[in-house]
Amino acid sequence: MADPIVTRFAPSPTGHLHVGGARTALFNWALAQGGGRYLLRIEDTDQARSSEAAVAGLLEDLAWLGIDWVEGPRWGELGGDPREIGPYFQAQRLEDYAAAARILVEGDLAYPAFESPEELDAMRRAAQAEKSRFRYRRPPDFDREAALRRMASEPHVLRFRMPETPVLVTDAVLGEVEFGEDHLDDFVILKRDRFPTYHFSVVVDDEAMGVTHVLRGQEHLNNTPRHVSLQRALGYRIPVYAHLPILFNPDGSKMSKRDKDKAARALVKQRTAADPSARSAIEQVVPPDRLASWLDDKRSQLESETLRDLAALLALDLPPIDVEDFRRAGFLPEVVCNYLALLGWSPGQKDEEGRDLERFDRAFLAQHFSLDRVGRGNAKFDVEKLLAFNQDAIAELDDGAFFALFGEWCARYDEGLLAREEPWLRRFTAVVRTRCRTLADAASTRGPGGFALIADEDVRFDDKAVARHLERGDPSGLVLLGEVRAPLAALADFRADAIEEAVRAASDAQSVGMGRIAQPLRVALTGGAASPPLGDTLEVLGRESVLARIDRCLARCGPGGS
Ligand code: GLU
Repeated sequence: MADPIVTRFAPSPTGHLHVGGARTALFNWALAQGGGRYLLRIEDTDQARSSEAAVAGLLEDLAWLGIDWVEGPRWGELGGDPREIGPYFQAQRLEDYAAAARILVEGDLAYPAFESPEELDAMRRAAQAEKSRFRYRRPPDFDREAALRRMASEPHVLRFRMPETPVLVTDAVLGEVEFGEDHLDDFVILKRDRFPTYHFSVVVDDEAMGVTHVLRGQEHLNNTPRHVSLQRALGYRIPVYAHLPILFNPDGSKMSKRDKDKAARALVKQRTAADPSARSAIEQVVPPDRLASWLDDKRSQLESETLRDLAALLALDLPPIDVEDFRRAGFLPEVVCNYLALLGWSPGQKDEEGRDLERFDRAFLAQHFSLDRVGRGNAKFDVEKLLAFNQDAIAELDDGAFFALFGEWCARYDEGLLAREEPWLRRFTAVVRTRCRTLADAASTRGPGGFALIADEDVRFDDKAVARHLERGDPSGLVLLGEVRAPLAALADFRADAIEEAVRAASDAQSVGMGRIAQPLRVALTGGAASPPLGDTLEVLGRESVLARIDRCLARCGPGGS
């Protein structure tokens, strides 16, 4: 029997889990299902940039997606089983790196280097002046004995002696890739503070943890010759490498953690160009100096909360980039996993209608995932398509399941709605569910149930709908609206079926079709001509609001109204 597959996801805890990272985790997880092992390792050797909060966030994001691990850091109910190959935090494995480095130094495959950061800078500048790329190589007159003596007392880094000849990397997706001169420098493996560099710790740990397959984004491809050379020098196995397609936006730009700032910056520029006075409201959210520097520098990023406040002010839906963004935007984790799986992989099967099979669950992915169907080209991330997936998944839920998910979502992101009585909330979510693309839609005043979430006096009447449904006809919509008010006010039981019955009776009495009353009512209650079924719309609003909105509409839109 072949040895079991061992994969790992190895995030650096320097920020939120990005959609690309989640895709990498998912593919590693999927490949190891069915007898393999998937482990999670936290690459926290960059101590200045790592944080415990980021670790907690990463673990929570992965757990939410259902990309669970048995071996890895313990967290909540997911446990974690620190086998002998743990700990799973690199900062706790420094002795292993030191031991591997000693082997390399003893074999003259690595050596100490004593240049100060300033000296290295000067060397870099000199190379730049000659228009050549700076590559550190061991000087021909290097005195090994002397260097080893100096190690005991002087600050130094350890550098690996990269081979002099091109390095060939075999990739399961991209085939054979040759790396020449440009990649052959003697890179640092242990820093002055005795912490390993990423290149070194990743190689030592993959060996120690028995990793057989390394799936990671194509942005790591250039690192692989270093890793393979280290593995050869240390006599390690070389795992199967598979570099995954880079994620692109539909407009052809590379998907980036800065995309949220980019969208907000473009809109701020547009709004302030059209109306310079808009700037002062924006400066309430982003202080003037910060606003100016952020507008000028496209690499600059606002704090996530500031950015969210700004987006709320601009009524802008920020593009989701981090797993947390998808969760906040109200996507279902199963749907996110389904969509992520299509970013660079396809099952190569047809659905019942003969189209490429695209909708599947995690169990299907676990069963069918294989490297030979990972693509080489870029993967396009299309949030509209993800929204369509999500809407369909929401439509397939039953009312109870949707209510439960929505309740969890509200508890995390929008507690206000939970103050409403549960029976009302259940009814409301049942009425709007099939019109929601996300859980957040159900809570949004701009969403399909927004009419029931705004105050009566905040209904804004759409001019076209008013002209079409209230002003036209004989009798006019306004007259019919006035006629239906009394029967609605008199209804014993203000429930959808009784409401529809009353509207039907009123239209019969006026000898008009039911739509002639339904549409004016919709305009009066929601401001526009589209809403859930009429009875449901009125029932969730409640009699008091319905009558108040009818009166307000008659006053505003009737003759002499404002
Ligand atoms: N810590 C690296 C990252 O977050 C892992 C790269 C790898 O999988 O080797 O990108």
